[in-house]
Amino acid sequence: MTETKVLSGKEVASAVYNELTSRIEKLSDKKITPGLAAVLVGDDPASQVYVRNKTRRFEKMGLFSETFSMGKESLQSDIMALINELNSDDRLHGILVQLPLPKEIDSDSVLRYVRPEKDVDGFHPENMGLLALGKPRFISCTPKGILRILQFYDIETNGKHTVIVGRSNIVGRPMALMLSAKNDTGNSTVTVCHSRTPDIVFHTRQADMVIAAAGMPNLINGDMISDGAVVIDVGINRVEDDSEKGYRLVGDVDAESVREKASALTPVPGGVGPMTIAMLVENTVEAAERSIS
Ligand code: NAD
Repeated sequence: MTETKVLSGKEVASAVYNELTSRIEKLSDKKITPGLAAVLVGDDPASQVYVRNKTRRFEKMGLFSETFSMGKESLQSDIMALINELNSDDRLHGILVQLPLPKEIDSDSVLRYVRPEKDVDGFHPENMGLLALGKPRFISCTPKGILRILQFYDIETNGKHTVIVGRSNIVGRPMALMLSAKNDTGNSTVTVCHSRTPDIVFHTRQADMVIAAAGMPNLINGDMISDGAVVIDVGINRVEDDSEKGYRLVGDVDAESVREKASALTPVPGGVGPMTIAMLVENTVEAAERSIS
């Protein structure tokens, strides 16, 4: 068995940022700076870190971003009122609502309130619908980033069997739509497994590619995959340990055993994570371009 190739999202993200530079310059010639509003509700520490990482990247790229933090007791109507303002603010080409929202808030209604043309996370039903019809506008950043990793490393999807573990609206579901689409980056036969799938191993063992997006450490191990399979680890899970921080981040894949069989694997960290941010920047640049076309 040859060595498992490391699919470095960090490297792919860096190529994406290079490509974006000239597009950002062209916008700048037209006096446009792509701008993002990040809406953060409550005090979830992981969400705070995600938003900080995203806005830092915008800063690094010379783009505009502003974080709108709201207390965890905020009313749904307050969040809607804020989004209403952001929808009509011309400095902002993209609006991201960091999930999860506090459980008292109806997330679907909030996401539906974001103007579809500014929905750079691709969560609005209109954008999900366009993706389902094979005419995408904004695609959610994580599955879009995964597809970009596959393209970068010339991993064929055509005619292959992909098993996705997880059916969420932000990862598993759009990923399945993209990989089964009738186009060169799709044409895959897709099986979606989830918490009610009786025998996940039966499916994963038949897959050319396994995409793990369940949010469960060590869910996928070497016994569960076929020789030469490509494994994409989407999971970001906090596991308590004795370190200063008190935890470390792990994926959904037991990398050690999977490496004995897989032909390629995304690491955690440094795999899918950096691509999610890169695609957010790309979608926001695209939104700014569309705003003047
Ligand atoms: P989610 O909780 O919304 O969905 C999890 C899905 O996995 C559900 O469909 C559920 O049915 C399925 N599932 C849960 N346990 C399972 C099990 N034991 N067997 C089979 N299926 C199971 O989560 P999500 O938002 O889709 O995120 C999934 C993971 O990906 C999390 O760890 C999250 O932190 C991570 N994530 C990473 C990025 C990134 O940028 N790398 C982005 C988004 C999410």
